[in-house]
Amino acid sequence: MQVFTSVLVLGLCFAFFVITHIRDYKQRKADSMIGLAQVIGTNSASAIQFQDNDAGKEILSDLRKVAPEVLNAEIVDKQGKVFASYSKPGADTIGFSPGLLNGQKFEFSKHNLLVNNSIVNNNERLGSVFLNVDLTELDAIKNTQYQIAIILLVVGLGLSFLIAIVVQRYISSRLLNLVSIMKDVSKTGNYANVVDPDGKDEISTLSVVFNKMMGQINESQQKKDEFIGVASHELKTPLTSIKAYLQVLDTIENQQPNKQYVQKALDNVNKLQQLIYDLLDVSKIQSGQLHLNKTEFDVDSLIDETIAAFQIVSINHKITRAGDKLNKTIYADRQRIEQVLVNLLSNATKYSPGASEVIVTAEQSDSSLLFKVQDFGIGIDRDEHTRVFDRFYRTKDMSVLISGFGLGLYICKDIIKRHKGKIWIESEKNGTSFYFTLPADNNQ
Ligand code: ADP
Repeated sequence: MQVFTSVLVLGLCFAFFVITHIRDYKQRKADSMIGLAQVIGTNSASAIQFQDNDAGKEILSDLRKVAPEVLNAEIVDKQGKVFASYSKPGADTIGFSPGLLNGQKFEFSKHNLLVNNSIVNNNERLGSVFLNVDLTELDAIKNTQYQIAIILLVVGLGLSFLIAIVVQRYISSRLLNLVSIMKDVSKTGNYANVVDPDGKDEISTLSVVFNKMMGQINESQQKKDEFIGVASHELKTPLTSIKAYLQVLDTIENQQPNKQYVQKALDNVNKLQQLIYDLLDVSKIQSGQLHLNKTEFDVDSLIDETIAAFQIVSINHKITRAGDKLNKTIYADRQRIEQVLVNLLSNATKYSPGASEVIVTAEQSDSSLLFKVQDFGIGIDRDEHTRVFDRFYRTKDMSVLISGFGLGLYICKDIIKRHKGKIWIESEKNGTSFYFTLPADNNQ
């Protein structure tokens, strides 16, 4: 657009200059030739009066030296008879007739200028002077002007193209930088990101507004995180106490339906407690305070014990371990890795209401251990494979049907990341497989 506008403006300017220059040249030429015709008329007045044709011819013959561009000329008396004439040798001449210029003083044809000036002496009209002037010089001037205009236009076009590229790069790079920061923010949720405003144009205004908006979001996020942290912390103590009392009641109460009520209350308190632990973990992750307590432990016993403990509460699913034993110890936070496994097993059973099997596998490669928890449930759409690890994210169709808060996988991802491992999803024909790795090297 910049180049197009510059070329259009340049083209219009050049056209204006060329046209005015040619028009001025023509006007000057006409004025000077009329002046010349007047001089000829004044000089030849007495020759006409005395019918001295030779004197008239002599006056006209001076044109060869004075105005070589005059191709032919005539002095005509008041009856319209040619009194004296002149022709430049070898030139194309034209014959003048009294009505040739329709009473005008001059007229331009394609390559000639025709001039007609009356000879007047003491207010008496004695005749006329006609001049036929060659304008090939004008063609040469026009050609030169057009050539210069085209050369300048090409140079201008090149320059404006270069400037446009430089400016475009500068603008694009700043816009792309802004876009990449926006993408990063939407991907990571890190609202502390800012853009360097750099300059005083619209992009820098946009950057300033963007930074301000990020600041406001960041502030409200921090307030929300603080609230979640404080609220879950404050809820933890009374809930632990309620749970303890319910457990006591559960052991001393044997009468139905009282015992059933107590157990229902205990189930719900457990759910509530799990949510509070998750919220506390999230708040620790947000403030960077989720610390690992690493020890060396046997991987097989961790997997088997977790499966066994989980199997007790999972009535509808059979959790099996496939593949060989690893016979391997790793240096990691046992409790946190167990938390990841429990979370994946819990999801596997929760989101496969129609299935009855969950398979856990663990393999060792050179540098890492690969864990897999496979279910045969509802599955997860491919475009949601990464988003389910976001905080509070739940797949669209599930949020109403199966209860949950979208925190478990977010916590799992952070725990695995802190262990320098990776966690991801692969879609099977039916169901979902969650994979995660841990470094096999005990010194990590
Ligand atoms: P929650 O289960 O409490 O909602 P999670 O963070 O554990 O939170 O899981 C996030 C979302 O990922 C779930 O809401 C669910 O939509 C989806 N999801 C997790 N595991 C599975 C699974 N095994 N099969 C299908 N969907 C799953």
